[in-house]
Amino acid sequence: MDRLSKEQRQRYARHIALPNFGEKGQRKILESRVLCVGVGGLGSPVVLYLAGAGVGTLGIADSDVLELPNLQRQVVHSSGDVGKPKVETAKKRLRELNPDVTVETFHERVTAENVHNLVADYDVVVDGCDNPETRYVLNAACYSAKKPFVHGSIFRYEGRATTFTYDPGTPCYRCIYPSSPPPGFLPSGAEAGIASPVPGLIGMIQVAEVLKLLLGEGDLLVGRMVLYDMLAMTFREVRIAKDPGCSLCGKEAGAGLS
Ligand SMILES: [Zn+2]
Repeated sequence: MDRLSKEQRQRYARHIALPNFGEKGQRKILESRVLCVGVGGLGSPVVLYLAGAGVGTLGIADSDVLELPNLQRQVVHSSGDVGKPKVETAKKRLRELNPDVTVETFHERVTAENVHNLVADYDVVVDGCDNPETRYVLNAACYSAKKPFVHGSIFRYEGRATTFTYDPGTPCYRCIYPSSPPPGFLPSGAEAGIASPVPGLIGMIQVAEVLKLLLGEGDLLVGRMVLYDMLAMTFREVRIAKDPGCSLCGKEAGAGLS
């Protein structure tokens, strides 16, 4: 990319001033393409901050329309947007925030059929999903395309985050969660409740991981998971290891590649 414009040098001045970032780092961010699957609790803060940071192309995939109970935490949308597709209302807000950013929208559910085409066009994929099934689909596609996948999940007052780069010896999502809980086993967000700061915090950890991946700086959450408990106000870190018996990335795997 050419040198930054005068306006861009102002817009991104606080990044450019940072050690290990600079104008070169900002140009990398502006040239990058990031896909966020879901613009709900996690995806809303994720796409707002990625757009603010100047990620050049942001893909957003979500099949939902906005409902009033979403707005307590899904702050990329507005009260007047209820009933509209979330990808459209998010796109409008992101363009207002930063016209440097091209927003590509996919108003569809991510499935085993469409996931490979979707993931292929992006450098990094962010997990803003609200269900394990979509995470398995994304994990498998990112594994076969060797695209980093930044995972986040939330439940009531707790959240967790980790990053999968699929480098040799590092775990994938299926290494940690070998099989999906039976349908209906976990209560939905609507049934369980969600404390609004939790997706905000976990989303910011995901944004930080994305920026480090794009810059090639810092230590990633690979092989370790951060667990946040809002009521106890604790962050814990647990080691997560590759499972040699994983049906996706283990030694005997093969059938699980699709
Ligand atoms: Zn695995």
